Amino acid sequence: MNPEKTPLEAWIKLRFGLAPEDPFTREILEKHQLACFKMILGRVKKQSRFYKKKLTDFSADDFSHVSDLAKLPLTDFKDIANDPYAFSCVSQSEISRVMTVSTSGTTGNPKKIFYTKDDQEATIDFFHHGMSCVTEPGSHVLIMLPGELPGSVGDLLQKGLVRLGAKGIHHGFFEDPLKTLEVISQNNIDCIVGFPVQILNLAAHPQSLDYTKDGIRSVLLVSDYVPDSLMNRVKELWNCETYCHYGMTETGLGGGVQCKAHQGYHMREADLLYEIIDPETRSPVKDGEYGEVVFTSLTAQGTPLIRYRTGDISCFLPEPCTCGTILKSMAKIRGRIMGGIMTGVGRIELRELDEVLFRLKEILDFRVEFRNWHGKDIFELDIYAPHTKTDINEFVEKAVTEIPVLRNCLEARRLEVRIAVSKQWINTGAAKRTMRDLRK
Ligand SMILES: [Zn+2]
Repeated sequence: MNPEKTPLEAWIKLRFGLAPEDPFTREILEKHQLACFKMILGRVKKQSRFYKKKLTDFSADDFSHVSDLAKLPLTDFKDIANDPYAFSCVSQSEISRVMTVSTSGTTGNPKKIFYTKDDQEATIDFFHHGMSCVTEPGSHVLIMLPGELPGSVGDLLQKGLVRLGAKGIHHGFFEDPLKTLEVISQNNIDCIVGFPVQILNLAAHPQSLDYTKDGIRSVLLVSDYVPDSLMNRVKELWNCETYCHYGMTETGLGGGVQCKAHQGYHMREADLLYEIIDPETRSPVKDGEYGEVVFTSLTAQGTPLIRYRTGDISCFLPEPCTCGTILKSMAKIRGRIMGGIMTGVGRIELRELDEVLFRLKEILDFRVEFRNWHGKDIFELDIYAPHTKTDINEFVEKAVTEIPVLRNCLEARRLEVRIAVSKQWINTGAAKRTMRDLRK
């Protein structure tokens, strides 16, 4: 039996003003996306200082298919950091929330993204329908995301859950898993939304099952990259369904969510038009080919973005989803353009370490630093394994040599690996997990 069709399809159809009995094909969806794009193009050319200048040579008549967007120049995070106010299509008095995101690199300026009431409403609407795939009315959902401020991701998610008829309980990031397990038990939580490492730390706690007697039915893992190995462990430990969400500040926090087929992400296609491009040639790639994820806002008012480079690497899955939707499926993010750390024999990605290390049931988090000591590269691995009673160094060593670049470095004696296993809390998993290159 095929899994239930993603609820996002019916929602997107409704958002385009179509009735349930109207036909809905990929072609029809793209026609509506094109019409929305033409409207936003007209708006940004009139009201956004940045695009007024940048898109001066383009008019709505230049576009007869969504693929024609490839004619347009790209926008990247530096453009926003340089002058965030130049993007807005409304006066500052109409902005109800600003999110500031620090950017990596030495240029320093943080990105500011603006949201109007309507922008936030669109995100709440997405959370409502997206969560209807993950859980159901009557459910009690623990929200382990920032949610103190109005308009924060946790706040918008809670509002979406109310519309679904479910109850969202704000929790934020935890420091003591046992205390959070008590909250889960007291509130009869059956669904959890949070960062992957945080959720793993709850599921793998030795007393976890005592506090989740009624069962955690489903978990939504929110991150740019969710390791399969970690997801499988959570699934086994709690015997639950696991879903992944993809989104960022620039997409209005929500971006896409897996359906019950657990394949690619289905995206908010009424609000966002996604493309995958070759980061070198900047041309669109074929379905099934990996490239950089680029999106165009179709409805945003605070910070509408035209062909925005996310820096994330993914592909559109070439086969339609088994849920039977006409929506596209985007594969899980594989990493960042220029992410990872360069060694003498190739690049090592955090994703590769995540996959081999989270397979070991003792490991609940880890931290990586590359150093240089008298001309020799040192790969330092701090493992967080709070519940282990045995020496796991040998297993960790074996696991890291499964990564071809690390194995080659070790064989060529270009690298020394130092492993430290600790029961001390090294990382809450709440901050963005990265590998640190301290060799300079
Ligand atoms: Zn699907």
